[in-house]
Amino acid sequence: MGTAERERELAARLVAVRARIDEACVAAGRAPGSVGLLAVTKTIPAADVALLLDLGLDTFGENRVQEAGVKVAEVAELRPGAKPKWFFIGGLQRNKAKAVARWADRVESVDSVRLADALDDAAQRAQDTGERLAPLPVLLQYSVDGDPRRGGVPRTDLLRVAEHVAGCAGLRLDGLMAVAPLESDPDSAFAEVAKAAEELRAAYPQATTISAGMSNDLEVAIRHGSDVVRVGTALVGERPLTSR
Ligand SMILES: *Cc1c(COP(=O)(O)O)cnc(C)c1O
Repeated sequence: MGTAERERELAARLVAVRARIDEACVAAGRAPGSVGLLAVTKTIPAADVALLLDLGLDTFGENRVQEAGVKVAEVAELRPGAKPKWFFIGGLQRNKAKAVARWADRVESVDSVRLADALDDAAQRAQDTGERLAPLPVLLQYSVDGDPRRGGVPRTDLLRVAEHVAGCAGLRLDGLMAVAPLESDPDSAFAEVAKAAEELRAAYPQATTISAGMSNDLEVAIRHGSDVVRVGTALVGERPLTSR
C-alpha cells in the first residue's frame, strides 16, 4: 500500500474511532471530547506513526521495550518538529526499567512494589542526567480477576502498592489502568474497575485517571468512567497474527 493510500485508510479509521468515542460519551451523559485517545502503535512501523501524527494524534502506546525504543527514535527522525508522547502499556521486567524511563511520558503497567522501585530509581537517575525533567507519571495496572498470570495488582493489594508508589520521589501516581479479562462480561469488569478507581482516588485524590477500554469494548469502558481508551486494531487495522 502506498503512503497516500495508507494515510487515507488511517484517516478514515480515525474518524470512525473518534465518532465511536463521542457517541459513547453522549450516551453516558459525558461531554464529547472528554475522553482521551491513546493510539496503540505496537507492531506498526514508525512511518505509520508519523502519519498518525500528521492526522493530529499525539499520544502513542507501546508494549515492548526494545521495539518502542527504536520506534521513538525513528519517529523523532521522521517528524523532527513533533513532540509525541509515548506511554508504555505492557508487561515490564525490572531490568528494562532504565530504558523505559528515558523516553516514557507515562508507564501504565506498574503492578508491583519491586517494579515501582526499579522505575523510581531509573526515573530519578534520568532526572539527574537531565534526560527527564520531572517525575515519571505512572498508573497502577489493576487486575480485575486477580489472575497473576496476566499481570496487574489484585484489589486486595491495590492500596498497599499505591502507598508505596506515592512515596517514590521519582514517580507520580496518576491513577489506574485495566484490561477487561477476555472471558468476562465487560460491563461487570469495568464496573469493578470504577470501584477500584474510586477507592484509589479516595486515598490519593490526585490519582484520578482511568485508562480502560480497547477496540472491542471502549463504549462499555466510557460508560463506566474511563478517561482514556487505548485503541489499536480499530485504528491501525489487524496486526500480523504472530505479534501481540
Ligand atoms: C494491544 C493493547 C491494546 C489495544 O488493543 P486493541 O484491541 O488492538 O485495540 C490496549 N491495551 C493494551 C494493554 C494492549 O496491549
